[in-house]
Amino acid sequence: MKFHPVDEHIVEALAKIVGPSQVIVDRDMLDNYAHDETPLYHMLPEVVVKPASTDEVSRIMQLAHEHIIPVTPRSGGTSLSAGAVPLMAGIVLSLERMDRIKEIDKKNLMVVVEPGVITERFDKELARHGLFFPPDPVSSDSCMIGGNVAENAGGPRAMKYGVTKNYVVGIEIVLPDGAVQRYGGKLLKNVTGYDLIDLIVGSEGTLAVITEVTFKVLPRPRYIVDLLMPYMSVEDAADFSHQILQQGFSPAAIEFMDGDVYRLVEKYLGRTLPHSDAGAHIIVELDGAQQNQIRAQYNAIGDIAMKCGALDVYVGETVKDKERIWEARKKVSDALKTVAVPITREDLVVPKDKIPQLIAKLKACAAQYDARLYAFGHLGDGNIHADVCARHSQGLEHTAINEMRTKIYGITVSLGGTITAEHGVGHSKIDFLDLALSNGQIELMRKIKTVFDKKGILNPGKIFREGDQT
Ligand SMILES: Cc1cc2nc3c(=O)[nH]c(=O)nc-3n(C[C@H](O)[C@H](O)[C@H](O)COP(=O)(O)OP(=O)(O)OC[C@H]3O[C@@H](n4cnc5c(N)ncnc54)[C@H](O)[C@@H]3O)c2cc1C
Repeated sequence: MKFHPVDEHIVEALAKIVGPSQVIVDRDMLDNYAHDETPLYHMLPEVVVKPASTDEVSRIMQLAHEHIIPVTPRSGGTSLSAGAVPLMAGIVLSLERMDRIKEIDKKNLMVVVEPGVITERFDKELARHGLFFPPDPVSSDSCMIGGNVAENAGGPRAMKYGVTKNYVVGIEIVLPDGAVQRYGGKLLKNVTGYDLIDLIVGSEGTLAVITEVTFKVLPRPRYIVDLLMPYMSVEDAADFSHQILQQGFSPAAIEFMDGDVYRLVEKYLGRTLPHSDAGAHIIVELDGAQQNQIRAQYNAIGDIAMKCGALDVYVGETVKDKERIWEARKKVSDALKTVAVPITREDLVVPKDKIPQLIAKLKACAAQYDARLYAFGHLGDGNIHADVCARHSQGLEHTAINEMRTKIYGITVSLGGTITAEHGVGHSKIDFLDLALSNGQIELMRKIKTVFDKKGILNPGKIFREGDQT
C-alpha cells in the first residue's frame, strides 16, 4: 500500500479535531514516540495526536482513512515487540489523555475504564474499593490498560488468575474507517455471534483502536505472603514447582530468575544479595482471605521446598519484607539495560516440565554466538523470558542475530512451545512467524486483517510484513 505523507493540511485538520496543543510536530518531542522498549528500534512519526474522546478518535481515523495515512495506536509505549513503533511514520495516535476510570460497579464486580489509565494507578484505585484486577505486567508503573488489552498482557499472577482476556467482558472500538462499535457489556455470559472481543484482545493495534473496556474484577485477597527460595539448579527449582502444584497448592505466582540474572542484578544494585552463587531463585506468592490458611500453606510449601533442595526459605509478610523479596525480580529489566548489552529479548513459552531443558539448550545456543543468555520469568505457567546479551560492546552482526533467533525459536517449538507468550509478534518476530504457524494459519489471519482494515492503515508492518496483505 502506498501511504500519503502528513502535510500541513492534515496537521491543520488534526488540530481542528483535538485542538492545536494536542498535536505534536516538533522533532524533539516526536522523538519520545519513535520507540518503545524493544532494543534497536527507532522511527520518527510525522505527527503525534492526542485525542480525549472516542468521538475524536473516530474523526482522526476517518481523516487517516480518507487520505490513506498510517496510524499507530499507542498507550504506555512499553511494548517489547516494537508494536508501538510507527514503522511507516504517519500518525501516532496516543491514547494517554483518555485516562478516566469511568465506573466502578461494586454490585456487579465490573469496572469501565479508558485505554490511557496506567495499570498501576488502576490497581491502586481498585484497592481503595477492596477490588482486584489480577493481570499484573511487571511494567505496570508505565504501561496502560489500552496496551494491556491490545497485547493481552500477562504477568506473574497469570498462572492462577489467567491473562487480560479472561477479564474483558465489554469493549468499545473505533474501526480503521472511523466507525464506532461496542461489544459485550457487564455480562458474564455472552455467545451472541462470533466472539469479536477475544479477537480484538491481543490484536496488537492492527484491527481497531480500543477506546473503552469493561472488565470483570474480583474481591481483593486480604492476605498476601511471598516466599523467596534459592536452589542450586534450575532442575531442583522446577521440581519444586511441579511438586507444589501436584499437591494441590494454588499460588498466585511462581517467578524465576536463573543464577546469571541474579548475579547481574547484584552487580546493578552494587551490593551483595543472599545466595548469589545459587543456580536459580524462585519467588512464590500466596494469597487468600484467611491469614491462618495462608500461614499453614507457607509452612507446608516451605517443607516441600527444603525436600526439593532449597538452600533457604525467606518469608515476607510485611510490606517491607515483600518489597525486599521482589526487589531483584523487579530490577531485572533495568539491570539488563544498564550492565549488559541486550541484542534480543525473547518471550518464550513451553509446557512447564520442559523449562529446564529449554534453558539449558538456549544457553548452549547463545554461547555458540559468543553471547550470554539470561533466563527469568514465570515458571508457574511455562513462560520464560530469555534476554541474549553480547559479551562485547559492539554487539553482534544482524545476520548472526537472526540465525541465532531462528535456532532459539526452533528449540522452543521442538519442545512443544511457541515464540511469544505475552509480548506479541509486533514487528520483532515477523520474520519468524512461520516457525510457529502454518502458511494456512497465517493466510487466514491476514484475511481477517483485511476484513477490518481494507486500506491497511492501522499499525502497518506489524504481525504481517507490510505489502503481504491479501
Ligand atoms: C520492564 C518490562 C516488563 C514487562 N513485563 C511484562 C509482563 O510481565 N507481562 C506482559 O504481558 N508484558 C510485559 N511487558 C511488555 C509490555 O509492558 C506489555 O506488552 C504492555 O501490555 C504494553 O502496554 P503499553 O500501554 O505500554 O502499550 P504500548 O507499548 O503503547 O502498545 C503496545 C501495542 O498495543 C497497541 N495499542 C496500544 N494502545 C492501543 C489501543 N488503545 N487500541 C489499540 N491498540 C493499542 C500498540 O499499537 C502496540 O501494538 C513488559 C515490558 C517491560 C519494558
